[in-house]
Amino acid sequence: MHHGSCLCGSVRYDLSADLGEFGYCHCKSCRKASGSGHGANAPIERVHFHLRSGEETLREYESSPGKLRVFCSRCGSPIYAYLAATPGILRIRLGSLDSDFTQQPRAHTFVAEKALWEPINDEIPQFPEWAPRSVLNQRGSRQA
Ligand SMILES: [Zn+2]
Ligand SMILES: [Zn+2]
Repeated sequence: MHHGSCLCGSVRYDLSADLGEFGYCHCKSCRKASGSGHGANAPIERVHFHLRSGEETLREYESSPGKLRVFCSRCGSPIYAYLAATPGILRIRLGSLDSDFTQQPRAHTFVAEKALWEPINDEIPQFPEWAPRSVLNQRGSRQA
């Protein structure tokens, strides 16, 4: 259904189901992990994630207790993250997709932490921290 890869091409994956809903997260750790103004991550069940190559270059980094970030150790591209508490749900880094994904973001989250250099000039609802699940259900995250 979708496929993606890292910057150097050693990690390649296919997805056998559609991705869940997503938002733009402006929290400090998403900014650090992405190297940009916000993160954009959508959930999928691990059983629908199929690693085609790059198992030897994938590494996991535990950025906070129980939060694992998985990236290519050759080029540094983030691929997905997951919680040790919910290992069956991966949160795919949308920038790694190579196929067309047309779903649009439902919310700006953690706007209270956003970078001063990133303006938000769209009509997508903004929340100082997590969005309510009725607006954006962030499966596989720590959303309350
Ligand atoms: Zn790579
Ligand atoms: Zn975040």
